Amino acid sequence: METEKRFCRNCGTHILQESTQCVFCGSFQFSNGIPFFRYLSESKFFRIKILYPGVPFLGTLIAVLHFVFWKDIVPFTFSILFLVWSFLFSISGWIGELILDLKFRGDVKDFKEGFIEWQKHLYDRSPYLSYLGMILFVATPLIQWQNSLWFSLASATIWTTLISFLALVIVPLI
Ligand SMILES: [Zn+2]
Repeated sequence: METEKRFCRNCGTHILQESTQCVFCGSFQFSNGIPFFRYLSESKFFRIKILYPGVPFLGTLIAVLHFVFWKDIVPFTFSILFLVWSFLFSISGWIGELILDLKFRGDVKDFKEGFIEWQKHLYDRSPYLSYLGMILFVATPLIQWQNSLWFSLASATIWTTLISFLALVIVPLI
């Protein structure tokens, strides 16, 4: 008799129907007994179908609304920085998802190796793409990220802080 199998919510690997936790990535398959936010963040569907397309859309919407209605009340810089953050969040989210796919397929053992493997794929397409990919990661630590959400939150926040420091502190000094 064949055992019933299904795909893990977080990494997409085949696991047993009744497993509560995925054997590969450790994510929970049922919502009972775990914090709601953790359950949500471990959903690949939520991340790639709702969060990564939705956040830049929200950032753009807020910037437009701000420009039209509240420009004189709150400094426009806030919306611009949020817009920058939202795009960086989405881009690093997609990249993180690609890198983690390599790990879950078994090609690499951790995020760091996944990054190097992803760099090789990029380099095969074009060296310039690979330089661009490297720049994105200059400030982001390549540690063992649980899933792409935590990675993209960290990456977008670090980069937005760097960009705002450059644009608001360093550039006015020159
Ligand atoms: Zn999994």
